[in-house]
Amino acid sequence: MLTEHVRPRIDVHSHVIPPSLGEREPSNESRPWIELGHDRGEVFVRGRHFRTVDPTCWDMSRRLSALLAAGIDRQVLSPMPELFSYWAPDVDARALCAEVNEWLSDTIEANDAFDAFGIVPLQNPDTAAEMLSEVVALGLAGVEIGSHVNGVPLHDDRFSSFFAEADRLELVVFVHAFHPNGADDFGTAAAANAVLFPLEIGRALGGLVAEGTLCRHASLKVLGSHGGGALSALLPRLDFLWETTDALQSVLPERPSEIARRLHVDSLVYSSDVLDLVIDQLGATAVVGGTDHPFLELPAGVAVELAPTLDANAERLLARAHVDSSPSVSRRGA
Ligand SMILES: [Zn+2]
Repeated sequence: MLTEHVRPRIDVHSHVIPPSLGEREPSNESRPWIELGHDRGEVFVRGRHFRTVDPTCWDMSRRLSALLAAGIDRQVLSPMPELFSYWAPDVDARALCAEVNEWLSDTIEANDAFDAFGIVPLQNPDTAAEMLSEVVALGLAGVEIGSHVNGVPLHDDRFSSFFAEADRLELVVFVHAFHPNGADDFGTAAAANAVLFPLEIGRALGGLVAEGTLCRHASLKVLGSHGGGALSALLPRLDFLWETTDALQSVLPERPSEIARRLHVDSLVYSSDVLDLVIDQLGATAVVGGTDHPFLELPAGVAVELAPTLDANAERLLARAHVDSSPSVSRRGA
């Protein structure tokens, strides 16, 4: 008998581009820019054409219609990852992140169907940590970050203050596969995306587990993209090496697979068998619905019985016990 599939009502992995980026600043090469058209937008990054996008990326009324048609009640908006702009000078990066975060704040305030993850300039971790209070004040549920920052892995000590502050403020840190190594070895962007994104996010999350980051920030709410990619397949090997290697045990007080169960991941794996493996490895409370809307065709969904569990997991992940934990700025106009 075929299993019936539906989409969870809450989609935690989707992308947007603020329409204010339609205002080009030719003198500012590091600022991404989008040429807004009626039925498509052309995105330019670092002076080069990056991709063509659908208007639902920036037009929220069209976006709501698309969600209605897809049976999604609530969607968490994350900026298109290229907007991270980890290559931009500090002052430009901070201004861009603030502009994007303020648009997200206005958007979620205008419609209850939306939540949002903002962005911060992680190429300067102290500035990124400082901006997290602004993220709280703007009402955002967390921040989206890349799986590395200009080649520096997320488990590097330089990001400790950022993770500590995100932990303190109970913000979700959505780690999105980003600029994987070896992309130029593939003939098409689709092939590189399909093969490398799962490896890239597995590498980043595996590093947070194996290098002790998740032990040092025990209540940090990390959400991994693309089902955590290769993470579920590598955890048994990591456990084996932990059991047989004193050096690894000296870093990790617990079995790696137990540490990994603090993570959340989205359901974006395109296979019920793979999703079963993810749930087996990370636990039934770890998985939330995700679509990558509107950049990819909406996936088929999950088994009908599983959808309510994913929605309940998303509700818990997005909730914060102390919403106003000492923000350094007040909400604009409030
Ligand atoms: Zn995505």
